[in-house]
Order: sequence, then C-alpha cells, then structure tokens
Amino acid sequence: MAANVDSYIAGHWVAPGSAAQDIHSAVTGEVIARAGCDPLDTPSMLSIARDNAGPALREMTFHERANRLKALATLLNDNKEALTELSFHTGATRKDSAVDIDGGVGTLFVFASKAKRELPDERVLMDGDTELLSRNGTFLGQHIYTSKPGVAVQINAFNFPVWGMLEKLGPALLAGVPSIIKPATVTSYLTAACFKLMIESDLFPQGTMQLIAGRPGDLFENLTAQDQVSFTGSAVTALQLRSNSHLLQHSVPFNAEQDSLNSTVLGADVTAGSDEFDLFVKEICTEMTTKAGQKCTAIRRIMVPAHLHDDIAEAVSAKLSEVTIGDPQLEDTDMGPLVSHSQRQDVTDNAALIGSEAQLVFGDDALICNGADGEKGAFVTPKLYSCKTPDTAQYVHTTEAFGPVATLMSYKNTQHAATLLNSGGGSLVASVVTEDTTFARELTIASAAYHGRLYFNNRKSMKESTGHGSPLPHMTHGGPGRAGGGEELGGIRAVKHHMQRTSIQGGADILGAICNRYIVGGAQTSSDIHPFRKTFHELVLGETLKAGPRKISIDDIEHFADFTGDTFYAHMDEEAAKANPFFPGRVAHGYLLLSFAAGLFVDPDPGPVLANTGLNGLSFQKPVVAGDSISVALTVKSKKLRNSEYGEVRWHVALSNQDGEQVATYELHTMNAIELSA
Ligand code: NAP
Repeated sequence: MAANVDSYIAGHWVAPGSAAQDIHSAVTGEVIARAGCDPLDTPSMLSIARDNAGPALREMTFHERANRLKALATLLNDNKEALTELSFHTGATRKDSAVDIDGGVGTLFVFASKAKRELPDERVLMDGDTELLSRNGTFLGQHIYTSKPGVAVQINAFNFPVWGMLEKLGPALLAGVPSIIKPATVTSYLTAACFKLMIESDLFPQGTMQLIAGRPGDLFENLTAQDQVSFTGSAVTALQLRSNSHLLQHSVPFNAEQDSLNSTVLGADVTAGSDEFDLFVKEICTEMTTKAGQKCTAIRRIMVPAHLHDDIAEAVSAKLSEVTIGDPQLEDTDMGPLVSHSQRQDVTDNAALIGSEAQLVFGDDALICNGADGEKGAFVTPKLYSCKTPDTAQYVHTTEAFGPVATLMSYKNTQHAATLLNSGGGSLVASVVTEDTTFARELTIASAAYHGRLYFNNRKSMKESTGHGSPLPHMTHGGPGRAGGGEELGGIRAVKHHMQRTSIQGGADILGAICNRYIVGGAQTSSDIHPFRKTFHELVLGETLKAGPRKISIDDIEHFADFTGDTFYAHMDEEAAKANPFFPGRVAHGYLLLSFAAGLFVDPDPGPVLANTGLNGLSFQKPVVAGDSISVALTVKSKKLRNSEYGEVRWHVALSNQDGEQVATYELHTMNAIELSA
C-alpha cells in the first residue's frame, strides 16, 4: 500500500488531502506514496513560526543554535542507512545517495562547526571594522547583522530531496529564523522521512520547521519583508514565483537557484593520453551519469581545442559505454533511472532539440537494463552530442536536458573559449582542466562574471579535488543570469542571508553596548585586582590596566639586536636610519616595544591566564627612539567562551610615549580559565 506523505503544519501532522497524487517508484513504476495537501491553515503556520519559534530561537546565541544543529546532524548521521534505502526509489544508486544524504548531513556539520569558530557567542553579529566618522573619534559607525523576525520559505527541486532541504535549513537555523519547507512532490517521501526524524528529535522549539507536502496555497500572499523565499528548481517556475505581485510589492527577498548550462573546458596545453586528458574524460562521465545527470551543476557543454575534438569524443564515448544502467540497488549498477516517466519525456524532448543542431556521437544503442525493466522504470542511455557550429547554434547553449546529456564543441583560442562558456547566459559552475596558469588567469578575467564558481583541476590537485559538480558548504553556490542570480552556502555568508544588515552610528559606548564589546574610545574602568588574576567570567568589558612608563635606552636597542640577531640598519646605524624617510635616526625595534609592553602588563604568577594565543591588527604608528618612555593600556575588548574550562579573551593594547602620543596598537588574544585551579 502506498505511504502517505504527511505535511507538518503548526505542530500537527496533516494527511494528504483532495490534491493528493500518486508518486511512482523511478525503478519499477509502482505507486509507492501519495502526496498533496488541502488548502493550508496559513495563519497558524506563520503564527507558530513568527510568534513561538522565532522569539525562542533568537533568545539563543549563535553558539547555542550551533550546538543544537550539531546534535541534529549527529542524529541524521545515525539514520543515513534508512534514508538511503528509501532513496533507491528515486532512482539513486548508493553513490548518488551519498551525494544527497551524506552530503546534506555533512553540510550541517560544517555549518555547526564554522558557526562555533567564526561567529561570536552572541545574538548580534558585527560586520567589518568600526568606521571613524569624526575627527576626535566621538562619533563612529559600525555595520551589524541581526536576525529577521520572519520565516524562511524553502522550496526545493526533486533531485536533492535531503541535501536540498538541509543546505537551506542549516544557515536559517543558525540565523535564528524558522523554516517552512516545501519539497518537490515527486521525491517528497524521502524529504519527509528525514524531516520526521528532525521533528521527533525535539531539538528545536515548536514551529522551527514545518513541511508542506503539496502546494503552498496562499502562503506567498501572507509574507512580509521580514520573511524570505529561497527557491531551487527550474527557470520557468522561478520566473513564475518571483513575479508574484505581493512579493514584489512588499520587497520580500527571493533567492533563486535555477537551472544552468554548466560547462567544462580543456586547456590547449593538454595532450591526448596525459593525466589531464584522462581526468577531463573521467569528470565528464561522472557528471553525466551521477544521479543520471539530474544535477543542477552537471556538465552540459564540453569545450575542447579543435585538434582534440575527435580524441575526446572517442574517449568519452568509450567510457560511457562502460556505464552499467539499471536497478540502483544493485552494487554493479553505475546509473539508475531518471526520477519519473515525465522527466524521461522531458529529457528526450530536450535532447531532440539539441540533436537538431548537433550530431549524436554516443547514445544510439538499445537500452540494456541491469536487473530492471527498462520500460517500467524511467531509464535512459547517456547521450553525447558533437556540435561543429557552436558560434551559430542556439539550443546547445540554452537547452537544459536535465539528464545524462552533454554536447561537445571546439574552441579556437582563449577568447573563443570564454565566449562559448559565457553563451550559456550565466551558470552555476564552469570547470577548466589545465596546467597553463596564463590560460587560467585570462579565462577567469574573460568569464568569471558569468559563473558562480570556477573549478580548476590538473595532475597536482586531482587527487584531493572535490569534483566539478559538488557545491561545498564553505564556498558560495549560485550563479548569475540563467542560473537564477541567487547565492547560497559560502560559509557564514549563508547565515547572513537570513539576517538584516544595519549601519549603526553613534558614540563608542552606545556601539559597544549594542555589540557587547569594548570599542576604542569607550569608557574604561579600573580595578584593584590585576586582570591576570581574574577568571574568565570575572573580567569586565572595558576593564583597563595601565602600566609604565619604561624608558628605552640605546643599550636596550643594542642588546635586543644582538640577542635576536635583528641588526637591521634602522636600529643600528644612525646615518643610514636618518636617510630613511620614516625615521629620525636609530629607532627601537617594534618587537622590542611589544616585548616591553608585555613586561609592563603581565602578572607573572600562575593564574587564570593559560596562554597567549596570538595577536591581530598590529600597527606601529610612531617611531620610538632611545630616551623615549613607553606606557601601555591593556583593555578587555571581547570574550568568547570556548568550553566548560576556558574562554578566549581579546584585549585592546595601546602603547604611548611620554607625550601621550600613541606609538603602537594591537589586539592580544589569551585563553583564560573559567575557574582557578586549586
Ligand atoms: P520545478 O519543476 O521548477 O520545481 C521546483 C519546486 O517548485 C518544486 O518543489 C515544485 O513543487 C515547486 N513548484 C512548482 N510550481 C509551483 C507553484 N506554482 N507554486 C509553488 N511551488 C511550485 O523543478 P524540479 O523539476 O523539481 O527540479 C529540476 C530543476 O531544478 C532543474 O531545472 C535543475 O537545473 C534545477 N535545480 C537547480 C539547482 C540549483 O541549485 N541551482 C539545484 C537543483 C535543481 P512540485 O514538485 O509540487 O511541483
């Protein structure tokens, strides 16, 4: 009996309604599930998200949300096998499922760990440095990000039922924004199975995640500028949805990841039979056949130097002929079926359009299916076309056959390769196999603006490279023009997409209070207890230790030079130093000043300060000569808890001379214990 794909609306599971339709196994054609809902209770959905989940999520810091995200990823990781079993019905082989399921779970892990490392344990995120907006520094500017109090509506394509959901969900959760997820109906049973695990985990407040197994009804008509729509799917649907007049009228952000005519280019430096030649052929075949070519990043157009056209056609055809098509569950099957019969019809129609401009080089043979009925399942053979007139052809550059179909074409020189690359009108990714660094740079300058990602590969990187078609959580995914003009992933950028950037202008104390850190120019406090004697939690932002002065002598400079070996002329030779435009004569080493500063501010005995882990933003602003005296001010700037034992403290350090002029500043990092050891 077919399983119902329930929606999860306002805390309740809702069975398919009047709009329910059958979903067929891609492999056998049997009905395996039913999905499609009655009109939704939109007010309740939005209310539970905006009024219950949103405030609870925003009460948490980035780190608290990251901890829960990691727990969620761990839970899904433990359930990957059950999801993989279900995934066979979509036509995915075990390898294909790894891209979707393991890839999705891995993406959550990466986001959780990046958030812990790169975001503050805070609710407000600073963006860039403080801007000095006035001569005396009493009026400053700071960009910040805060979470939007809305919902993220996430509409996904059929081809990545798990990854598609998780790569959008992770960043939204970190930003503190609840999600309403709408998977593509045809593979919604797999998304729903993964979603159910997440709901049952109870890791997030009620209303954080909802699922629409069907159409979103009047949801768009109830969104505001604090909400957003993130769409992945075809260009046709993207255009229809983003043209919604309510969305346009209310400036509701709409991010589109849509189809794209991705390409690969072989450098003219590559010779037949070389490592790069074999790599190029292998990547093409992998991209054509993984998920039966149903990948938004799959290679659709192949550009090679004219003299290698026939060699590549032959080598790719030979490799494609080794691909075993059939039941994705069988270990020796390389490529499963397309997701549905209607998808097969779509691919066949689009391949025919391409075929009107190009000759079929591979894919004419009768379909042989390994352990499956080729007619009952949505099986196809890969098709390689060759287009001899790419400059005048249209369909080869504009038609996405969302299956194992690609077209080979020749280029004459670098500019021609770029012109062909760019004629896709904007893509998610273009890959280039070459060792020629000049070619790589020239092609980048001529075509990077047309592609979301450029992927270079050769014998030096091929062993560790991640593949033309793999969007990575660390790097942005999306592309201009035809690819939708959107952007997802890209590390913490993806979190920021769910937050509002605001420029804050005011005095240092106001800005510091908003950002929960000391900002230079803000109030400094003193304490009778040396800050190195205070535990992590006892330290107060703005707390300042002033120490010095210490006079610098010529003996100090010479001793430091001899001891370290740094006998640079500016410290040792009066005449030569004077001739230098920056110095009045022999000057103290910058590192000597840092060392003396530490000598002034440290408290030597064992205590809560565990280690000095680095410094940032060191600048020497005025030379210090023998006879000058330096003083130091050490101020607690920010604190970040690392674990239950210690946290990182960042200090603003300012060195000044006997006239009160600042000579050097930097940010010092220390690890400080939460408790004093007995
Ligand atoms: P699609 O037909 O455009 O559908 C995409 C999503 O939109 C599905 O969830 C679909 O739901 C929904 N949808 C369609 N009409 C809607 C409407 N009127 N109101 C609300 N939702 C609606 O695309 P697909 O066939 O699933 O996916 C294949 C396409 O996605 C390919 O063109 C591929 O290139 C592209 N893609 C792009 C990326 C990327 O990152 N750029 C990634 C993956 C796929 P139903 O299933 O219920 O119709």
